[in-house]
Parts: sequence; C-alpha cells; structure tokens
Amino acid sequence: MHLKAIELVGFKSFGKKTTLSFNQPITSIVGPNGSGKSNIAEAFRFALGEQSIKSLRGKRGEDLIFSGSAHTPRSNKASVKVIFDNTDKLFNIDFPEVIIERTVFRDGINEYVINGSKVRLKDVHELLAHANIGQSGHHIISQGEADRILSSNAKERRNMLEEALGLRIFKYKKEEAEKKLKKTEENIGNIESLRKEIAPHLRFLKKQVDKAERVKELKKDLVERYKEYFALEDAWLTAEEKKNREVRSEPEERLKEIEKEYAELPKEVPVDLSVFDTQIQEYEISLRSLEEKSQSILQKLSRIEGALELTKQNQSTEEKVSINTETFTQFKDDVLQASEKAEQSDTFASLRQALDSLLNVVRPFVSAYSTAAVEVQDVSHFERDQEELSKKHEQSRARLQETRVLLSDVRNKKEETRNKKQEGEMKRLSLAAEEAKLIALTSSHKERGERLRVEREEFEREHREALALIGSDSVRYEKVEVRDESRSVQEQRKRDIERTKIRVEELGGGEAEVLKEFNDVREREEFLGREVEDLQTSSDSLKGLIKELDKELTSSFNDGLVAINKAFNEFFTTMFGGGTARLVAAEAKEEGVEELGIDVAVSVPGKRIKGLMALSGGERALTSIALIFAMSQVNPPPFLILDETDAALDEANSRRYADMIESLAKQSQLILITHNRETMSRAGVLYGVTMMGDGISKLLSIQFEEAVQVAK
Ligand code: ATP
Repeated sequence: MHLKAIELVGFKSFGKKTTLSFNQPITSIVGPNGSGKSNIAEAFRFALGEQSIKSLRGKRGEDLIFSGSAHTPRSNKASVKVIFDNTDKLFNIDFPEVIIERTVFRDGINEYVINGSKVRLKDVHELLAHANIGQSGHHIISQGEADRILSSNAKERRNMLEEALGLRIFKYKKEEAEKKLKKTEENIGNIESLRKEIAPHLRFLKKQVDKAERVKELKKDLVERYKEYFALEDAWLTAEEKKNREVRSEPEERLKEIEKEYAELPKEVPVDLSVFDTQIQEYEISLRSLEEKSQSILQKLSRIEGALELTKQNQSTEEKVSINTETFTQFKDDVLQASEKAEQSDTFASLRQALDSLLNVVRPFVSAYSTAAVEVQDVSHFERDQEELSKKHEQSRARLQETRVLLSDVRNKKEETRNKKQEGEMKRLSLAAEEAKLIALTSSHKERGERLRVEREEFEREHREALALIGSDSVRYEKVEVRDESRSVQEQRKRDIERTKIRVEELGGGEAEVLKEFNDVREREEFLGREVEDLQTSSDSLKGLIKELDKELTSSFNDGLVAINKAFNEFFTTMFGGGTARLVAAEAKEEGVEELGIDVAVSVPGKRIKGLMALSGGERALTSIALIFAMSQVNPPPFLILDETDAALDEANSRRYADMIESLAKQSQLILITHNRETMSRAGVLYGVTMMGDGISKLLSIQFEEAVQVAK
C-alpha cells in the first residue's frame, strides 16, 4: 500500500488540522450531505497539483482556504500533505517516504514542497507521472464526475486513457523533447541568421586578410631584397671608401711634403744677380788698372833693361857716374843754401822766399834729372832702377794675381748663385707642377669621397626607412664580399625594392588588427558553425527521440487500448448482463492533429439503440464505472478515489459494483466516499465526517453500523 495518509490544514471546511490514515485497501468516508467529504477528495487533487480551481469548486485560490466560522477565525492559508510509502520505489526518488505538500495563500500564491524541499509544480507532476498518478484525474473521480469520461470529447478521452495507461510519462518526455526541439530550432535559426549577418563581414575581412597575407609575402620578399641590397651596398661602399682613403693618402702626404719642400727652398737666394755684377765690374776695373800699371811697369822695366844693356855696351861705368856726381853736387849745394835761408828766415815772407828759392832749385833739378836720367845714367843707377822696378813689377803682379783671384771668386760666386737660383726655380716650378697635379687629383678624390659620403648617408637613410617599414629583419644582413658586377645591377636592385615598397604601400597596413579581427570573427563563425552542428545533432536526436516516443506511445497505447477494451467489455457485460462496449479510434477532427481521438461504442443488451446518447443516467453511470474500472485494472494506479460514483446504482448493481471494487482493491488502494451501504460494507476502515453547528468538518473513525447511521 502506497497511500499512507492525508493531512488537511485550513483547507476548505477543514479549519483544524485533520489527518486521515489509509492503512487498509479500502477506506470509506461517510457523512451527511455538506459535511465536507468531497472536500477530502478535492484535497487530494489540490495537493497533487490540480490547476483548475473551478474543478475544486472555487473561483480563486482563496476559496480553498477555510473561511472561518462564528467561533473560529479564518485561516490565512490552506495546506494539504499527501504522504506516500516509497519503500518499494514507487517514486523515483531515494526516500522511504514521499510527502507532497501544497499550500495556497490568500494572495493566490501556491507553494509546492516535496519532502521538505520547495519545488516547482512541474516537479510534482513529473514525480507523480512516474508513479502512474496523472493529472487528468482518472484516479480521483469527483462527485458527479464519473460521467466525465463519457461526456468529454474524443481527444480528452484519449488523454485520460494515455494517462491511465501510464503513458503520460512518454507524453511528458515527448512534450519536453518537442519543446527542446522547438527551442533548438529557434536557436539554429537565430545562429543561422547571425551567421548570415557575419558572412559579408567575414568575407570582407577575408579579403583584407588575403591582402595582408600578400603584404606579408611582399614584406618577406622585401626583407630578402633589402638584405641582399644592403649587404652588397655596404660592401661596395666600404670597399670604395677604403679605396678612396688609400688613394687619397698618398697625394695628400705628398702635398704635405711639397709644402715642407717649399719651406725648405733656400730663401737667401737673392732674386737679383746685379749685386754680383757691380762687384765684378769693380774687380774688372781694378784688374784693368792693375794690368795697365803692370804693363807700364813692365814697359819701364824693359826700357831700363834696354838702356842698361845699351849703356853697358857704349860707356864705361866711371864716366857716367862722374858726370852725374858733378850735377848732383851742384844741386846739393843749392838745396843746402836754400834750406839754410829757410831756417834762418824769421818771417813768413822770408820763409816763403826761402822756400820759393828752394823750389827754384829743386824744380830745375827734378826736371833736368827726369829728362836727362835716361840719357845720363850710370850703370849702377840703372841697376838700382831695374831692381826697384822689378820689385814694383813683382808687387804689381802679385796684386794683379790677387785681383784676378778675387774676380774669379766673384764670378764663381755669381755663377754659383745663378745656378742655385736656377736650381731653386726649377725646383719650385716642378713642385708647383706636381702640386697642381696633386691638387687636381686630391680634389677629385675629395669629390669622390664626398659622393661616397652622400651615398653612405643615402644608405643609412634607406636603412632607417627599411627598419621603420618592415622592422629589424631587413637590416640584419651578413657581411659579404663586393660582387664583381656592374653598378647598374645594384641600381636595378634598388629600383626593384622601390617597386615592391610601392606595392606594399598600395595594399595598405593595419594587417595585424585585421588578422586579429578576422580570426576573432572566423573563430566566432566557426564556433557558431559548431553550435549549429551541435544543435543540429541534438535536433536530430530529439527528432529521433520524438519518433521513438511516438512509436512507443502508439504501440503502448494500442496495446493498452486492446487490454482496456477487453476489460471494459468484461466489466460492461458484468454490469449489464450482456451487451458490448469498446473504445474505438475516432476520426481526427482538428487539422494537423495526428493522434486519433477515442470514441466509446456501446450496445446495451436487449436494446436496439446503440451509442452513449441513448443511455439512461444509470446506464451512463454503469458504463463509465465499467470504463474507469477497466482502465484501473489494466494499469492499476496506486490509489483510486471514488466520490459517490455509486450514487446512481440500484441494489443489484451496487453489489456488482462492490464486487468489482473488492477485486480492484487488490491492485489499488481505494478511498470511497459513499452513502451506499453495500460499498461501506466492503471497507476496512470507515471515517465519518461531520459538521456540527460551527462550520468545521470533523473526522471520526466509526464502525460499520455507525457508518450506516451517519450516512443517513
Ligand atoms: P454531499 O454529501 O452533499 O456531497 P459533502 O459532505 O461532500 O456533501 P462537501 O461538498 O465536501 O460536503 O462540503 C461542502 C461544505 O464545505 C459546505 O458546507 C461548505 O460551506 C463547506 N466549505 C466549502 N468551502 C469552504 C471554505 N472555504 N471554508 C469553510 N467551509 C467551506
């Protein structure tokens, strides 16, 4: 037995806490009209999640709360607990006992609790569906509701049957799967439209990235080109610079030397040689006069020598000497006389007179002597003159010699000076010529050096540019040897680099960001693609699941239907003593509804008219009881509550009903609200419900006899 008890607090007429225990297969609840019996059946439905307040005979949730009486204040909430035994795992939760509790507050708020934990209504439904306790209420037949299964439409009937067959759980699963499928497909749709939105942007980014790739490739190519170009350029420049330095140093050194040589050129060299000329002239003059003098001496000497020779040949030496002694003695006397006079003169005039007379003596002597000397000479005199003249001649020759030496010196000096001067000038000229040549050479070297410097600067500028444009890779080249090639090859390289650079610039930069964005967007797109795939997979598997569930549902339903039909027919024939009853698939009335509804086909024995419409109230009650019992028998619910289902039965049928109840009670616990003696008689426990004057339902456990009394 699964149903252990129900506890009502403030629910409808149960203003005080009331507990009904169900420890017997059949429990009957009896009591006078309006005492609150039906409220108990409704308490079950309430606790198990009934959503229709109307079916609980109220308009709002508040109507379910004890409204108070003359002596008892109203309750602020209505609460019902249904307690199940779960030792045999009727419910798929791991508790030995399951307590489902529902509370409604005056503001209409409902609260569901399973074993002390607040849950959602859905959780209650699921839990119950597992235990074959559905919502459609086929196991709780309220007063006057037995007919419901007959009066409801084909579709509702089908639902009831499905629930009775325990197929509700499949329905749940199917609905869940369908909901999930719908959500999944919505998600797929959303994602697909997102992908559609992304697609053009992605395409655009792809183009950008392709461009960026191209730029990357070009840059890679540029790096290689730059490296080759820089390496060769550097090598060439370095070599050229070295060459230039080398060729420059020699002439520069030489120029320095030339400067020194200039400085060393003798400065004392007189530019004017006339100084020498004057000296030479002077010497020449004195030489000439000396020569003349020497000549005259020589002439005199030869004359004397001639005269001497002549004298020696013509006269004796004694005679010539006596003549001369005479003359000279005379002259000597005259001079002495004149000098005495001069000494004796005491006046200037007498001195002058004495001197004049002296001169008068000397002058005729000198004159006589000079004219007569040659004619009147003696040998000794000539010899003396000859000696004297020879001496003079010697002297003159010596002086002549001396002068000649001087002259020759001066001449030599002049020559030397002139030579020196000429030599200096030659030197200066050759230096100047060399210098001019060297200056031309060095200036051409300088010019070359300058050109190389400009090229080096250009090279460095290119370096910086490459660095800025494509980074350090481009300038990380290895040193190479100068290549034996025309300079134009390198120039072509430079042009190629320029062309590549232009292409890079044309394609534009910002590639890193584009790539990042592209990757982000692509990742997102791929993610969405995977999402769609996942969703598609789960959609497919949901569809498969739905199909499976449908199949299972259909086959279980069909099997169940066969079984129910069998039981239905049996119960029907038992109740009616014949006839036939069965459930048949009805034509689908709504479009798009695949499931077939269920119609009831009955034929009461001995009557021609067939169909539900033709049944009397009692016959309808019997038919519905037969169907309810059939359903309960095929898939027995844990409990079955029948609220005055037996009200319309005559005595004979009451017995048959009671028999059927006893047989049903073997599989399901029964709670029977009844006024029927026969029914009461089969119950293991009887509860009496009374309502005294205070409007509060009270419960009392009673004996059968009492019950019969109470029921009246
Ligand atoms: P019958 O045998 O005639 O079917 P019953 O025993 O099933 O009667 P119920 O219908 O269960 O009687 O009880 C109805 C009683 O419950 C009424 O007297 C009604 O006043 C009372 N009742 C219903 N709702 C409330 C409420 N919210 N507060 C107090 N009493 C209520």
